[in-house]
Amino acid sequence: MLGAIVTLAVAAAAAYAVTQIGGIVTLLFIAAVLYLAYKRLPLVVFTLTFTVLLLAYTGFGAPAGIWKGFLWLLLAVLWLLTLRPLRKLLITRPFMKGYLRLLPPMSQTEREALEAGTVWWDGDLFSGAPRFEKLLAAAAPRLSPEEQAFLDGPCEELCRMIDDFDVTHRRGDLSPEVWEFLKTRGFFAMIIQRRYGGLEFSAFAHSCVLTKLSSRSATLAATVAVPNSLGPAELLQHYGTEEQKDYYLPRLARGEEVPCFALTGPRAGSDAASLPDTGVVCRGVWEGRDTLGIRLDFTKRYITLAPIATVIGLAFRLYDPERLLGGSSDIGISCALIPRATPGVAIGRRHFPLNVPFQNGPIAGKDVFVPLDCLIGGAKMAGQGWRMLVEQLSVGRCISLPSNTTGASKAAVFASGAYARVRRQFNTPVGRFEGVEAVIARMAGITYTMDAARSVTAGAIDGGERPSVPSAMLKYHVTEMGRKVANDAMDVHGGKGICLGPRNYLARGYQAVPVAITVEGANILTRSLIIFGQGAVRCHPYVLREMNAARDPNRRRGVEEFDRALFGHIGFTISNSVRSLVMSLTQARWTRVPVEGPIGRYYQHIARFSASFALTVDVAMLTLGGYLKRKENLSARLGDVLSSMYLASMVLKHYENQGRPASDQPVVEWACRHLLYQAQEQLHGFLRNFPNRTIAGLLRLLVFPRGLTYFAPDDRLGRAVAALMLAPSATRDRLCEHVYRRVEPGNALGLLHEVLVLAQAVEPLEKKLRVEGVKTGRVTALDLPHQITEAAALGLLTEAEATTLREFDAKVMEIVHVDDFAPDELGTQRAPSAA
Ligand SMILES: Cc1cc2nc3c(=O)[nH]c(=O)nc-3n(C[C@H](O)[C@H](O)[C@H](O)COP(=O)(O)OP(=O)(O)OC[C@H]3O[C@@H](n4cnc5c(N)ncnc54)[C@H](O)[C@@H]3O)c2cc1C
Repeated sequence: MLGAIVTLAVAAAAAYAVTQIGGIVTLLFIAAVLYLAYKRLPLVVFTLTFTVLLLAYTGFGAPAGIWKGFLWLLLAVLWLLTLRPLRKLLITRPFMKGYLRLLPPMSQTEREALEAGTVWWDGDLFSGAPRFEKLLAAAAPRLSPEEQAFLDGPCEELCRMIDDFDVTHRRGDLSPEVWEFLKTRGFFAMIIQRRYGGLEFSAFAHSCVLTKLSSRSATLAATVAVPNSLGPAELLQHYGTEEQKDYYLPRLARGEEVPCFALTGPRAGSDAASLPDTGVVCRGVWEGRDTLGIRLDFTKRYITLAPIATVIGLAFRLYDPERLLGGSSDIGISCALIPRATPGVAIGRRHFPLNVPFQNGPIAGKDVFVPLDCLIGGAKMAGQGWRMLVEQLSVGRCISLPSNTTGASKAAVFASGAYARVRRQFNTPVGRFEGVEAVIARMAGITYTMDAARSVTAGAIDGGERPSVPSAMLKYHVTEMGRKVANDAMDVHGGKGICLGPRNYLARGYQAVPVAITVEGANILTRSLIIFGQGAVRCHPYVLREMNAARDPNRRRGVEEFDRALFGHIGFTISNSVRSLVMSLTQARWTRVPVEGPIGRYYQHIARFSASFALTVDVAMLTLGGYLKRKENLSARLGDVLSSMYLASMVLKHYENQGRPASDQPVVEWACRHLLYQAQEQLHGFLRNFPNRTIAGLLRLLVFPRGLTYFAPDDRLGRAVAALMLAPSATRDRLCEHVYRRVEPGNALGLLHEVLVLAQAVEPLEKKLRVEGVKTGRVTALDLPHQITEAAALGLLTEAEATTLREFDAKVMEIVHVDDFAPDELGTQRAPSAA
């Protein structure tokens, strides 16, 4: 409706323009100027071209009245702006003064967080004109022969060794054999360089290993993820002294040392930089000798691997009241490695994280004295702890949780597709009911998105990126998507998912979801504060330049740079206004993208949303300034738009990386439609909640001139996607790559796949039994085994067919059955009998 009204209004305005201000020539002139802005020409080139166009326009069909005055005034302003000394005096300097007053103060820790990592595809999305050629040119991630052999060998073997119910219910821990295997086969050394005895895997291989392990056991995957993520090994490799590296890294690689990293405490959770744990530089006795060192007091909690750790990576605030190091007294956040046996360290008790009993617990230290060379990197790295942590987080956050969550979701969709095909209700596989079909389609589309995000971003890391904003996007969105998939899988399985026991392959993954949501930056905070907050400064082509220039103590240089950034920024905003309007009106149909056909349309839609997003961001920052940071819901919505575009780009790139298999197209289309619909809805939500209603209204004209025209995936597409999961298919295999599916006792996923394959073969027999036996009334039994017997006796089925059906039914029931327990088997203490 709104679209029709706007189209009519534009047509009326055009007709009016034709009659009132010089006809077709005027329209051509306006179109040419819009085209120049759309193409984002530099100011000088734009001004020159505008001058030529205006002269030509005047020659052909002279503009008249106010319109004429306006155009010549505009030309005068443009020439004024191209004269840099004049514009610096009249515009840049006064503007910069006001800008400095509005600029919120930035602490050192905030600055370090903002400057950590690199800007990658996120920067393109902020530009309003993403260069897809650049994304597509990046090499597809590949496993080396050794990495592939590790996945096929030790990983497969490890998955076979796991009995997850034993781990989660009976033992509350991994078995000693599994611990030994993990330590001695390099599972804790994937990121350690070969020269120290580690595996030195690529980010992609590291991610694939975690994906596989997590398809088998959440406890196992969490245990392996932590030593390979932000912690002692990672910090030592980047910042450690040679002595520290030579001592610790080989021991960590061989599993002789078990590391943990302790940042969080009871008083410092999300706001970890405010940690109250202290270290004071002083002299003390270490190994019998008077030594310059640090006296530590700390209370930490939630620390993964702490109960069994032999070396603790510790974050604390370092003070030097006697200035023994010669610098300031408040040195800042620092990181040290503390051996477990150091006097004063209390460690060993366990937390109980949601029935997923990976080792996790509190650590405390009172009057713990360690020598100065316990500081990671030695005394020269004192006070650099926060920078070290945020720098390394941009890589770790792209790998550990996204891979673990993707592995669990792959397993969930693998199992749910098969279960929904073989579980019958109302005489029909439940997966063939539209309601269930829609849920399976959602699971597949979302899991494809997760897999694409994890693998393409890991590939970027292997290409040298340290993508900090994408790391926050992946942390938040992949774990939230994992939560949706886990919920959906439980719904599809009904009671089967709820009753715990060795036959339950879903519930521990479901229980583990809040752990992934909470760790490495709790999700609400990450969405509300980090994704857009960091992206707006870091990825925007001008904001950080303007901020740095305004704060430059060399004022002359600052004004020069600020001037360049400011006018670049103004041109950028004007161009994005035009791009947003044109692409929204045309649905980006004529936007040039490197891929053709139906898939090419998604590239065009990303380009359109990117322009609208970039424009909205600029208007929001200009009108709300620092207040935007406090309006968390607005920031969060902009972060969602950015993330949706990022994830859709990852889906498209993943599809290319996999060689554009035609059969995957429905899943790719479902994922892109779903994501871009989210982008539209969040942009719409942003405008609805924008405090200045006039500006919101004007923005809406440029962003949604035809209303909300983008639609979520339709039922037909959902049905096509679900069909690919409800039967063996190449798409299902690709999507569920790395799921541990060996057919063996104790692996329900192997059995599920086997039964899914059989279901194809027995379908004609089931049909014969139903149509010729049950429907005709010749077969009267109520349950399948008796129906098979009757049908065989009547000659409707041969003996061989009856046997095939019986065996199939036995396997299905093996899957459908759940566990039960003697009353005294549950609970750690025997409850008094109710009698
Ligand atoms: C199982 C487990 C393992 C862990 N492993 C480790 C480890 O090995 N090492 C380590 O150092 N730490 C570890 N952690 C700690 C983890 O990183 C913290 O739990 C996390 O940082 C959140 O802190 P918190 O739990 O105190 O929540 P809080 O900080 O109390 O937050 C509570 C809620 O408020 C929200 N919130 C807070 N501030 C804002 C804001 N400004 N805007 C919007 N929302 C906000 C959060 O998103 C969250 O939803 C682990 C935690 C768990 C549960």
